[in-house]
Amino acid sequence: MDLVFRAPRAVMPDGERSCSVGVSGGRIAAVEDYGALTGDRVVELRDDEVLLPGLVDTHVHVNDPGRSDWEGFDTATRAAAAGGVTTLVDMPLNSLPPTVDVASLDVKRRAAAGRIAVDVGFWGGAVPGNRGELRPLHEAGVFGFKCFLLHSGVDEFAPLDEAGLEDAMRELADFDGLLIVHAEDADTIDAAPAAHGRAYADFLGSRPRDAENTAIARVLDLARRTGARVHILHLASGDAVPLLAQARADGVRVTAETCPHYLSFVAEEIRDGATEFKCCPPIREAGNRERLWCALGDGVIDCVVTDHSPCTPDLKRLDTGDFGDAWGGIAGLQVGLPAVWTGARARGFTLDDVVRWMARNPAEQVGLSRKGRIAVGCDADFAVFAPDDAFVVDRTSLHHRNPVSAYHDRALAGVVRASWLRGRELDFEPGSEPFGEFLTREDT
Ligand SMILES: [Zn+2]
Repeated sequence: MDLVFRAPRAVMPDGERSCSVGVSGGRIAAVEDYGALTGDRVVELRDDEVLLPGLVDTHVHVNDPGRSDWEGFDTATRAAAAGGVTTLVDMPLNSLPPTVDVASLDVKRRAAAGRIAVDVGFWGGAVPGNRGELRPLHEAGVFGFKCFLLHSGVDEFAPLDEAGLEDAMRELADFDGLLIVHAEDADTIDAAPAAHGRAYADFLGSRPRDAENTAIARVLDLARRTGARVHILHLASGDAVPLLAQARADGVRVTAETCPHYLSFVAEEIRDGATEFKCCPPIREAGNRERLWCALGDGVIDCVVTDHSPCTPDLKRLDTGDFGDAWGGIAGLQVGLPAVWTGARARGFTLDDVVRWMARNPAEQVGLSRKGRIAVGCDADFAVFAPDDAFVVDRTSLHHRNPVSAYHDRALAGVVRASWLRGRELDFEPGSEPFGEFLTREDT
């Protein structure tokens, strides 16, 4: 073995136990009892540390190229590494050009080349008029296609109308592609009072749960009729959980994710003018948050991913605190694991649960068979996590590009002490040599 980890505690696919993990050529070559393996280099975890598989975050907006002043491949992937995330999948929008054809995918890969500290894959986009580009993008290795049902926040990534959504699903069903949906309904939001001003309650009122519930019902109905595989992004409405459970029981091929911020924050506690908490769909009430936790426990929600979506401080309108004008997006890539662990532990969940939501299930959902698990044959990607340690988030010490964070000043349980990618320890500091690789869909 090149490298052996001896862990008094490790989260394995069959639960937590002590073990030693042998690494050869960047892959996990053996898993044995604690102390049973030896190698050229031995890493002994301390008694307060747990060996986790590197997390897989399938919802990250890197915004590069084109809006690299918002975020970039260098900063985003260092933030990921520092947060125990060793694999991320980049969203097709907010970068320029958006990833809606093979040429724009190539532009993005060129922008990222040599600058990624963790392994990176890409989503494509399904927008009006690009039906013919979906199959070529699929064959080029994207993991699926994102669409919106209302204005996306940027004009160059337009939403699909009813007919466009059905068209995209029929096309994807043809080659078993995956459609990932920002499920908020435009008409419901148009009918709600417009978001403006500093009051969080007004912003919340402008994006009601009904907008999510209506859009999700429509997506499920179309998935039922077309046979397409669909995934509901950033679920924030607890009302929609029974719809998802019923659809799945009926055989609809649907998965769902929620995000650390929906599990951490509640509308009642967001100060007026605190636009660092603005995201879409919005952070909702405390009772709603508990329904999301229950849905994770019941397995109706499969994954917790960050929807890391930063921008420059001026676009957050921190000066006026106007929720109508501020960019909607929360940068959570580096603190997702401790944020979720803090909430999970308080509700009686275990690290095994957190690993299932943040590593194993996201990897499985995008078909990355060598990621998200500590098992022979998988990539030697790990996070060394101290679950009983604690820290207070300081936005200026986070590695993403701009020091804006909804988590600033928040006390969190659990510290990521180290991350390893394919058997090499990651250095989070600027100037370190990045050795992340591009990932493509495995059947590409
Ligand atoms: Zn997003």
